[in-house]
Amino acid sequence: MTIANIIKKIKPSATLALGSKVKQLKSEGKNVIGFGAGEPDFDTPEAIKASAIESLKSGFTKYTPTSGIPELKEAICEKLSRENNINYSPQQILASCGAKQVIFNCLQALCNDGDEVLIPSPYWLSYPEQVTFARGKSVFIESSDENDFKITKSDIERSITEKTKVLIINSPSNPTGSLYTKEELYEIVQPAVSAGLYIISDEIYEKIIYDGEKHVSPASFGQEFFEKLITVNGFSKAYSMTGWRIGYAAGPLDIIKAATLVQDHSTSGPNSFTQKAAITALQGEEKTITDMVKEFDKRRKYIVERLNNIDGITCMLPKGAFYVFPNISGLYNRDICGQKVTNSVDLANLILDKAKTAFVPGVCFGSDLHLRISYATSMENIVEGMNRLEKLLNEGVLYED
Ligand SMILES: *Cc1c(COP(=O)(O)O)cnc(C)c1O
Repeated sequence: MTIANIIKKIKPSATLALGSKVKQLKSEGKNVIGFGAGEPDFDTPEAIKASAIESLKSGFTKYTPTSGIPELKEAICEKLSRENNINYSPQQILASCGAKQVIFNCLQALCNDGDEVLIPSPYWLSYPEQVTFARGKSVFIESSDENDFKITKSDIERSITEKTKVLIINSPSNPTGSLYTKEELYEIVQPAVSAGLYIISDEIYEKIIYDGEKHVSPASFGQEFFEKLITVNGFSKAYSMTGWRIGYAAGPLDIIKAATLVQDHSTSGPNSFTQKAAITALQGEEKTITDMVKEFDKRRKYIVERLNNIDGITCMLPKGAFYVFPNISGLYNRDICGQKVTNSVDLANLILDKAKTAFVPGVCFGSDLHLRISYATSMENIVEGMNRLEKLLNEGVLYED
């Protein structure tokens, strides 16, 4: 059997794989605590569900225009104007089956063979694979915990070549939780705009932010920015709608048109009644979101404190999203229950094996010195998971079922 060369280059999603592994261990009766979740552990708000049910009942179950129904695109324009201070027209909107798909479509629309795409690292693990699918080349810009995983103007300037076409930014970030201030964002986006790059701004965590910090959309920085920015967002994280599959991009007309063509011949428009529910989400009250963020905030502070109490682990307090990304390099080459590890995959496996606690190895996101821990799980699980981890690493005590 001959599989296409491009597919041989693609890695499976490590986070989805970990989720399956944890489910498998649980089904075997093992008491495993999973910290791999890339989705809120909250239910979709009732009003959103009711809207989908209503539209199902009324027979709204047919194909819609590829780029989304006009009411949804108008509601998205309204939202972007009200909350993000960017004025798009409905033709500049593409609604897709999630932010993931819309980024895929935009990369397909933008990249020629060998075009370089700048990706600050650590990064969301689908970006490089999607760049590969688009025949582009990922160029990673490294950052570290010392500067809260933020890159700078000179990092961007140094990375741009004749082949650079796109920059992808993601603030707040998955996996680090890092959030750029308006000034910092301007500093990195401005040289990219000057060099004529397109910038995909993945803003899916914009509403999950702590300590009174604010999210800003770089497309709002002025006309020259607006012309180069593709603003991406979705409903999965803020409205706990991961399984509904709905997200969108807003950007220059020619790019949105091209990305819509990709969608025309792959998935067609997003789910009809999900689009109706998405309108309800955009027009509804935000209390469920602020309540969720309050709960995440408690967990964030707790988990960071517990992690920093473990010898060999250091963890910054992230400003957004629902992940922490602790540095675990202090544990490398140390004797842990008779074993020595030197990389994040082996450490994650050791912890899963000895403490029945599942974290995602940082190497999947571009850093082998870290683990990604999602706190989109109950406080009870977090307390138990941190107890197990601390016992294992501070005292060498295994977790026995
Ligand atoms: C979850 C996530 C997405 C994908 O969201 P969907 O709308 O469910 O496709 C995109 N970007 C980042 C950084 C994410 O964490």
